[in-house]
Amino acid sequence: MNDPSTTRRDEIAAGLAEVERRIASACRAAGRPRGDVTLVAITKTYPSSDVRILAGLGVRHVGENRDQEASVKAGECEDLPLTWHFVGQLQTNKVRSVVSYADVVHSVDRPRLVEALSREAVRTGRQVACLVQVALDDDPGRGGAVAAEVPKLAEMIAGAEGLTLGGVMAVAPLGAEPGPAFARLLELSLSLRADHPAATVVSAGMSGDLAEAIAHGATHVRVGTALLGRRKPFVR
Ligand SMILES: *Cc1c(COP(=O)(O)O)cnc(C)c1O
Repeated sequence: MNDPSTTRRDEIAAGLAEVERRIASACRAAGRPRGDVTLVAITKTYPSSDVRILAGLGVRHVGENRDQEASVKAGECEDLPLTWHFVGQLQTNKVRSVVSYADVVHSVDRPRLVEALSREAVRTGRQVACLVQVALDDDPGRGGAVAAEVPKLAEMIAGAEGLTLGGVMAVAPLGAEPGPAFARLLELSLSLRADHPAATVVSAGMSGDLAEAIAHGATHVRVGTALLGRRKPFVR
């Protein structure tokens, strides 16, 4: 009865129930069906035992932001029916590793990355869904392409062997109301869909702003803290 993993399971189950409640309520408020929104559990800094608990609770999409950590966890969880999302800034020298486990890359923000992802997907016979990451504050320092570059990058992905254009992704700017930023992202997504009707993914919203994101058309919310708890500061 003192099995500590039972406690951890209860903790995660409670977090998941609360996140589910928030997603359902945001969908209701936006007049959207619950099925419109996919929960991607962001498991960075947490062990693969937590990924296993999430999978046992019915979660099917997990995301990570650092290859070093993600590659180990994906390997340890190979037996689970999970779709792996890579959501962090991606260096081209990590592409080989990331393509070996990631089904969706949310952070495609430059032509060199498209070339590298395509080359590796072709080499390994994999098909990788790519989202164009948009820098909503036009500050490319945090990753993301400026809005003007989005159509060109999308075109490149759509034409690249081994890749499919899934849609767009963004992180709300720090210290500002997320609503206007998410509205911009939705606008970009809608104009992209005029040329690429299948590129329907809008990846937006995290623990703190998932309701605003769903109100502005998010199809994928990336939630870490609200599911698994506050992360310890990363110490090198
Ligand atoms: C960590 C991370 C998240 C999850 O953030 P929380 O606030 O913990 O929900 C979402 N997206 C990206 C890109 C992240 O790096």
